[in-house]
Amino acid sequence: MLLESQNKNKYLYDPTVKNTQWCHPVLYHIIQLHHRGLDVDQWYGELNDDPIQIEGYGTASKPEIAYYYRKYRLLRENGFFSPPDSGHLLSGRLSPGQIKSSLANTRQATFEVVDYCNLECAYCAYGKFYNINAPRGDRKLNTGTAKTVLNYLLDLLNSPLNQSHHQVFYIGFYGGEPLLNFPFIREVVAYAHQLKPVHNHFRFNMTTNGLLLGKYMDFLVEHDFDLLISLDGDEYSNSYRVFKDGTPAYSEIIKNIDTLAAKYPSYFQTNVNFNAVIHNRNTVPGLHSYFKTRFGKIPSIGELNSSGVAAAMREEFLKTYANIGTTLFQAEDYSLIEKDMFLNLPNTRGMKSFLQQCSGFIFNDYNEVAAAGNKTEAGKPPKQTAQIPTGTCIPFSRKVFITVQGKILPCERIGQQYSLGMADEKKVDLDFEKIADTYNSYFDRLKKQCCSCANWEACLQCIFYLNMDHPQPRCSGLLNDEEFARYLSTQLSYLEKNPQTYFKVMKEVRLV
Ligand code: SF4
Ligand code: SF4
Repeated sequence: MLLESQNKNKYLYDPTVKNTQWCHPVLYHIIQLHHRGLDVDQWYGELNDDPIQIEGYGTASKPEIAYYYRKYRLLRENGFFSPPDSGHLLSGRLSPGQIKSSLANTRQATFEVVDYCNLECAYCAYGKFYNINAPRGDRKLNTGTAKTVLNYLLDLLNSPLNQSHHQVFYIGFYGGEPLLNFPFIREVVAYAHQLKPVHNHFRFNMTTNGLLLGKYMDFLVEHDFDLLISLDGDEYSNSYRVFKDGTPAYSEIIKNIDTLAAKYPSYFQTNVNFNAVIHNRNTVPGLHSYFKTRFGKIPSIGELNSSGVAAAMREEFLKTYANIGTTLFQAEDYSLIEKDMFLNLPNTRGMKSFLQQCSGFIFNDYNEVAAAGNKTEAGKPPKQTAQIPTGTCIPFSRKVFITVQGKILPCERIGQQYSLGMADEKKVDLDFEKIADTYNSYFDRLKKQCCSCANWEACLQCIFYLNMDHPQPRCSGLLNDEEFARYLSTQLSYLEKNPQTYFKVMKEVRLV
């Protein structure tokens, strides 16, 4: 695929070789001829010694043409310009063994401690804006179930299937508001301390609204918890985070955070982070300045979830919704904010995916490096291994999430109707064969769309956001060649203006 950046620089992206490179106008011209179906060897053979005119470049001499013709041949001999066989490449299947192994190497088990909260934030995923398929209740996860899950995971973590030696394994507490069931947390932490992981070591983390921190901070510090506190900025910015009677929660939360920072300054510095939601009462520059000045922290910023909004609430939702990019690009001190918030910005996430999937310069391990250098006897790169369609993670590769009802999910961000198994006090019921069949049947239903999508290599779409309950789910992210070329051009134009971003992404972002 040939494309131009906003500065009119020319590039070649080849999906088969998975490589993007800057392209001299003469080479670009030759590849254009190839794409138009011309026999380039015959065209070159019939050229006389006269220079030729190339649009957007000027006159190219015969030696210049000869040089770029040789380059074109070199690329062709190394597998460029062969149409990608997306039918083959997207025919990957998940196997039960792969899923079991993924669980044995997972990085985190997160428990939904309770499904209720002491706040009633206006934009809560369980609140007025959304069609809710699992309404909040008054349920707690029992400690017996959590212990059974930990025993089950420990057997896998200690087994030969675990290759992630020396990796931290997080035991996470999530809600609702997890501190509303502190006895559960205390008991699970005590239980985890007496388990004996052979290859990993355990740490604890928690996402909290901060209201009960005053009561439980000594315990959290003693057990070295990593804390993520949800706070949307100063008093006005945080005014959607309210108690059930509608009164603002800001002053109580901030009192607790200030006490934590004063009582345990080094813990606060190393273990505490903030998570803010952007909406119409705050801005990215405002959040950046508030957290940096008041706490010396750079927050993570997320947007309101725009899927599952009830039709009747659409208008009010749109008034509340704000986009990170828009408020960021309007900032006067954009460069400073970008520098500080680098890893937390949508640009960086998009750039990370682009460089990983399309640049051809990122290898996850030495096997990939070796495979890229190998050639078959015909001089072509070896046939790529088939991959699964969509950008969905291999189940449990990132975490395992256990709901208050004992449902087992690959993360907390997807609907609970997609539960992959159950746990209770007596056993964990995970049928890896059934999970593989379920995922493979989802992939079968999407494969046709994905094969016709130019974005299939760089796809980040999770299947669980695609209404998989429907017999023929549709993906609105499907891109044709023209749309995909626009996407590539946007990424390359951004890198031309901000070359430091390339080096930062390559150095600082963990690309796995
Ligand atoms: S949202 Fe989808 S792709 Fe992302 S972690 Fe959850 S299941 Fe995996
Ligand atoms: S964007 Fe949608 S259609 Fe395209 S590859 Fe991803 S899941 Fe398939």
